[in-house]
Amino acid sequence: MFKVLISKIVIPSNISDYLSRTLVVITVATTLLIGGVLIIQQTLYYNKISKQKSNEYLEYQKTYIQDIVKNELEYIRIQNEIFKQNINEEVRNNVTQAYLTAETIYQKYAGIKSEDEIKALIIASISSLKFDMEYEEVFISSLNGSGVYYSRRPEFTGKNMLQFKDVNGSSVVLDEINLLKSKDEGFLSFIINSDLNSKTSPNKKISFVKKFGHFNWYFGSKQYVEDYFPKFRDEIARKISTVRFKYGGYVFMNSINGSPIVMDGAVYKGNMNLMEKTENIRNKVFLQELDVVKNNPDGGYFYYQWNKMNDTIPSEKCSYVQLYKEYNWLIGAGFYLDEINQSIKDQKMKLWEDQKSSILTILLILILLLFIEGIIISGFNKRYKSDFERFFNFFYSSQNNYNQLNISELNFDEFRRAGIAANEMIMLREETEKKLHQEHRKAMESDRLKSAFLANMSHEIRTPMNAILGFSELLETDNLSEKDKLVFVKQIQKNGNMLLNLIHDIMDISKIEANLLSIRKRPVILSKFMEDISNHYAELLTSRKDKDILFKINHEVNHDVLIQTDEIRLRQVIDNLLGNAIKFTTSGSILVDVKLEADMIHFNITDTGIGIPSDQQAAIFERFMQADQGDKINIGGTGLGLAISKNLIQLLGGSIQVKSESGKGSTFSFYIPKG
Ligand code: ADP
Repeated sequence: MFKVLISKIVIPSNISDYLSRTLVVITVATTLLIGGVLIIQQTLYYNKISKQKSNEYLEYQKTYIQDIVKNELEYIRIQNEIFKQNINEEVRNNVTQAYLTAETIYQKYAGIKSEDEIKALIIASISSLKFDMEYEEVFISSLNGSGVYYSRRPEFTGKNMLQFKDVNGSSVVLDEINLLKSKDEGFLSFIINSDLNSKTSPNKKISFVKKFGHFNWYFGSKQYVEDYFPKFRDEIARKISTVRFKYGGYVFMNSINGSPIVMDGAVYKGNMNLMEKTENIRNKVFLQELDVVKNNPDGGYFYYQWNKMNDTIPSEKCSYVQLYKEYNWLIGAGFYLDEINQSIKDQKMKLWEDQKSSILTILLILILLLFIEGIIISGFNKRYKSDFERFFNFFYSSQNNYNQLNISELNFDEFRRAGIAANEMIMLREETEKKLHQEHRKAMESDRLKSAFLANMSHEIRTPMNAILGFSELLETDNLSEKDKLVFVKQIQKNGNMLLNLIHDIMDISKIEANLLSIRKRPVILSKFMEDISNHYAELLTSRKDKDILFKINHEVNHDVLIQTDEIRLRQVIDNLLGNAIKFTTSGSILVDVKLEADMIHFNITDTGIGIPSDQQAAIFERFMQADQGDKINIGGTGLGLAISKNLIQLLGGSIQVKSESGKGSTFSFYIPKG
């Protein structure tokens, strides 16, 4: 069932359907194949490009965040410079302020008051100076190393300070004095372990010193960097927290000891420590950060899972982190890898747009091809259907006629060749049918002739039989004269001979048909042969009172002419022809003309009888054939005489023909070879 359905769909019963479907299938398959290959190529190309792009994008993003971090580090560096300069300015300002105050006092009282009074005035005015910071001060020390004035450390007054050292072992006061040996003023820095401001760990302290030459003094002011640091750090943190870049990117900042400074894009105010394991995810990431900066002093990348802002599902993130060494700050920024996916998605959309237009183009080409195919197929169908139509009409009409197919009207060579064959077939059929028709007619005729023959035969047999029987009965009659008896016996003999002749004829035709009749040629003296015939027929016609016929034989045959022939059969032929001549002639003449040629003897037997219609002259030589001669009353005969004669002449090596005109007479001419 399924097989049948498939074969019906795939191989339709109609040539035109088959052709159209095949063409459509081939076209659609080819177009789809080419289209498919193109689209696959496009997709492969896209995949290659998008891989390239995604790598490029990754590199680009990595560079991008690195640049952001580097920018921020640069910003911190500059701010740090400014920050430090500010501290320097602060201490320098303090010292300058004190110096100018001292100088003013000195200038005012020099020579008026004693040196000690002036010194006391200077110290008093300096101690009353006000500063921004709580622990700020200006101290006075002697260039020989003994303390003069320390506002918060009065015990230093008069004390030799040369031994005072910072945590690194630098002699603080000695360094100051050494500096002022070559310059009037200058900056120095130390790491101081403890001081009045209750710092618990070593801290950087910046100092500015300026020589006051009038008393061999110098003024100085020192500031812990740390006192200014929180403000500076907060400023940096605030600025960094404002940095944003694409797809919600931000910069983070942690202290190396685990304190977050800027976290999730905001300044961190709490007291979380990223070193603690309780901060599970953050701790893990922080440890990665530490690892990176430990191995890469100039910064490096690391990958991890992180929640996007306003998102609860973690995504893969790549961050760049670098250490700001001076303060041990970790500055970093990252991007989510799925941003690449977003860009790939955008490209995919573009590819799909491209593919859509490719598919549309392919479909348009397909439609165009199908359209063109449609035109070609319909043109072909028209031409080939017209050829078929001609063939159908030809075959239908050829049932009734022999019309030929007009080859020049056919469109295709194949049909033309078939047409030629069909025309030959028709011609052959016409010939065969005509032959058959003739045969049929012959058979019918032969049938009819046989019936006529039988009728004639019965007549031909019955007539002499009746005569024989009648005369036999008459012979029994009493008182018959001898003369009558003789007449009756002659009649009986005559009719007996007729019957015998008839039987001979029948036997002859049977032998001829069975090819059993043989010819026995012997020397015959032609003149003698003709004389016998002449005598026989002259006597016969004399005895026939119903005939008024002049009988004559013309021949110039010498007595010594000897021919080789079957005398009996030749005589039989002549008897047949003369018998017919007498039978169909009532009055007039019967002439026998014999002519000798080199090899042949010609016989012409001419009568003035009823003649034979021209359309029947050929047929009378057929067996059982008797011509239709109008008012001819049944004259008797079997229709065998001429058929036998014709065959005998042929067997003797000659031929016979007739010339006749209805009502005027007939001439039967035949010739035979002399030997
Ligand atoms: P039969 O004479 O026994 O009928 P034949 O074969 O001798 O048969 O002759 C065939 C027919 O030819 C005759 O029946 C007659 O119609 C025609 N025919 C033959 N000879 C003559 C003739 N001399 N004149 C006219 N018709 C003839």
